[in-house]
Amino acid sequence: MPSALSQPDLLGTECLSRDDISAILDLAGHYAQRNRSAQKSCDRLAGKIIVNMFFEDSTRTRTSFEVAAKRLGAQVVNFSASISSMNKGETFSDTMRVIESMQVDGIVMRHRTNGAPVEAAALLDIPVLNAGDGSREHPTQALLDALTMVRHKGHLGGLKVAICGDIEHSRVARSNAFLLNKFGAEVRFFAPPQFIPRDISSLNVRQCSSMEEVLQDADVAMMLRIQNERLSEGEFSMTVEDYHEQYGLNHDKLRVANPEVIVMHPAPMNRGVEITNELADDPRHSVIFEQMEMGVAVRMACLDLLVGSDSKEL
Ligand code: ASP
Repeated sequence: MPSALSQPDLLGTECLSRDDISAILDLAGHYAQRNRSAQKSCDRLAGKIIVNMFFEDSTRTRTSFEVAAKRLGAQVVNFSASISSMNKGETFSDTMRVIESMQVDGIVMRHRTNGAPVEAAALLDIPVLNAGDGSREHPTQALLDALTMVRHKGHLGGLKVAICGDIEHSRVARSNAFLLNKFGAEVRFFAPPQFIPRDISSLNVRQCSSMEEVLQDADVAMMLRIQNERLSEGEFSMTVEDYHEQYGLNHDKLRVANPEVIVMHPAPMNRGVEITNELADDPRHSVIFEQMEMGVAVRMACLDLLVGSDSKEL
């Protein structure tokens, strides 16, 4: 079935056109409103089966994709990598073909290997939605971040977006940079020297050398956690206290930002490390739990546009 987007899969924001991003955000805005009403569910995906294939840990994304699919009337099967036949030597491509041969309608995949969803999409005729692959891309996170920014700021163009923390290993930072650049936002990065991405020059971002510089007049401050699961033992030796002091966000450091700055975090948060407790819970700035709410709406829009049939009423 042809997708309502210009491509059959959702693999990253780098390869997503502005028109496709706008179509997703428009529909997600509709679902966000609907999700706060009494009539949350609809039958856009009635009769469809979505398989969640998570080869890496997840709380929000997996649950959020499942809630999204169910709100649209789909059934969801959760594939469990840890008890699958991959442990008996089955290859990744055979496992993917097995799932597709069951005539399911879409696959949501998280994988620790960069490019795994791209490989799956090349093999399969059904839509593949990337729920985060290694340190490469996390498109639905960037889309839900964009929706949250638009709700608070009205637009993306011209926004000054500060992204701080372990950028080298962050698929969230990359997907945000690709998306925000397409809409004319100014993306700034600040990271400990060892977490500056090697390909930073190709990302079209401003590299800052202090918290003060990255936060100056910022409209958005996005904090990232250290991706310990992607580091080898002893690779990062800074103490929590030193890290917090130099790279963590608190009310005091935020003073140089736009007074209306919003504070974001893709979560899981390490409170007291990259962000203080007080700031994470400050309703004047923090939109962190709203991001999670927008995650369901964005994933509903992505599933609808990629898996849904145009013949059904919204
Ligand atoms: N949840 C986000 C991700 O899956 C951010 C993180 O884990 O730090 O990339």
